[in-house]
Amino acid sequence: MENQAWFADMEARIPKGEVRTRFAPSPTGYMHIGNLRTALYTYLIAKRLGGKFILRIEDTDQERYIEGATDVIYNTLRTCKLTWQEGPDVGGPVGPYIQTQRRDLYGKYAELLIEKGGAYRCFCKEDEGVVPVTLPNGETIKKHQCACGSLTNEQIQAKLSAGETCVVRQKIPQEGTTTFVDSVFGKITVPNNELDENVLIKTDGLPTYNFANVIDDHLMGITHVVRGSEYLSSSPKYNLLYQAFGWEVPAYVHCSPVMRDSQHKMSKRHGDPSFEDLVEQGYLPEAILNYVALLGWSPGGEQEIYSLDELSRVFDIAGISKSPAVFDINKLKWMNAEYIKAMALEAFAAAAEPFIRQTVKHPAIDTARVAGLLQQRTELLTEIPEKVDFFDVLPQYDLTLYEHKKSKVDQPISLEVLKQAAPALEALPDWTDEGIHDALIALAEARGAKNAAVMYPVRIAVSGKAVTPGGAVEICSILGREETLKRLETGISRLTAALGEAE
Ligand code: GLU
Repeated sequence: MENQAWFADMEARIPKGEVRTRFAPSPTGYMHIGNLRTALYTYLIAKRLGGKFILRIEDTDQERYIEGATDVIYNTLRTCKLTWQEGPDVGGPVGPYIQTQRRDLYGKYAELLIEKGGAYRCFCKEDEGVVPVTLPNGETIKKHQCACGSLTNEQIQAKLSAGETCVVRQKIPQEGTTTFVDSVFGKITVPNNELDENVLIKTDGLPTYNFANVIDDHLMGITHVVRGSEYLSSSPKYNLLYQAFGWEVPAYVHCSPVMRDSQHKMSKRHGDPSFEDLVEQGYLPEAILNYVALLGWSPGGEQEIYSLDELSRVFDIAGISKSPAVFDINKLKWMNAEYIKAMALEAFAAAAEPFIRQTVKHPAIDTARVAGLLQQRTELLTEIPEKVDFFDVLPQYDLTLYEHKKSKVDQPISLEVLKQAAPALEALPDWTDEGIHDALIALAEARGAKNAAVMYPVRIAVSGKAVTPGGAVEICSILGREETLKRLETGISRLTAALGEAE
């Protein structure tokens, strides 16, 4: 009686009449790209249908416990702005939202399931009771088959009193088929005798995923279960559990894996990047999320750049593809560059600053101005330190850099230009981009040369690099008069020495 009231109370807590989706990650210590995509789709389905997005932590695999792993989940979702309305930290009507805190509840539902004939106590040791079964298609699978399901209550009590440990195992009818419709894969029918009688409650009293997902999805009122297609083949077993309890089966949205190439799934263990790795490599979370949205979902048009808000308005389950999507880092890089270009300059300057400061320590260098030079030509934030290091210290460059056919300069011409540019710049009343520009153009005119024949050697002298963000004028301007003149002098004396030796 007491139990009945408890079950009734659990049922009464289930929110009704709203779309409820959940992201249910296991704390592995990193966010796999496939998992991030599941989180995103789950969030988007809730948003699009005006429902709630719920976070549940599936931590019943205690052997794989990793310190700090839950924080990785929180941080990733927060960074990506995938805000959950119910979850371990914010609570909600159907908590707790961490599976290890729901332990007693699973035990009670396991008892109920045994009473309903959907499960049995199994005393087999780990390798006992496993038999090979050949399927109609010729494939051989291993299934658990034992007599524990027919033990009488007295026999069970005797074993328990003798200290024998047991698990709770699902009882699967051997006749008939189980059919369900997946929103992505369509209608799936499986003969029941192909389904294994999985462990539902382990000897440590904790549930397996096979049991916990059904109990939690039901008790949390989940209407759409969005998850990886690796769970597709087990879903008939889960449906039999729903049936045994007399519960409604949720809508299923199984998503195909994200692949490294046509043969292999992306895998952190094999060196493929996780979300955190990509952020560390200089990808913006917004760009990663946008790219991940299109991995296996097509909006059905040409548009590729979508903000999270836009996605929330247009995402639809019908656009999710059955075929596995291949992760293309070059496409992501392109998208990242598009996001960088579209940022407000202040936002980009703020994002770029720590990367600029990795190599540019000199406080006189204005990082916001350096950022201005970088924004339109940066694919990854991590490219920045190496691109701007010359602002801090003039590198040891090779004098052959002064030879450039297209600009019509060689080492002797460069020397002449630098010798004329130095006093012209020194004489400028104000150190402005415009002043520097006009002085160098006037010098080109006076020499009867193309602008490039002056700009090029000056740029080499002040940067020591063949390729730089920004041209001579911007670089001189940012460096300041004193540093510019010092670098021009270095160029002059090095060229003088080299050409003198050559004579
Ligand atoms: N904890 C499972 C995983 O991380 C979740 C699967 C599901 O969403 O049901 O794979």
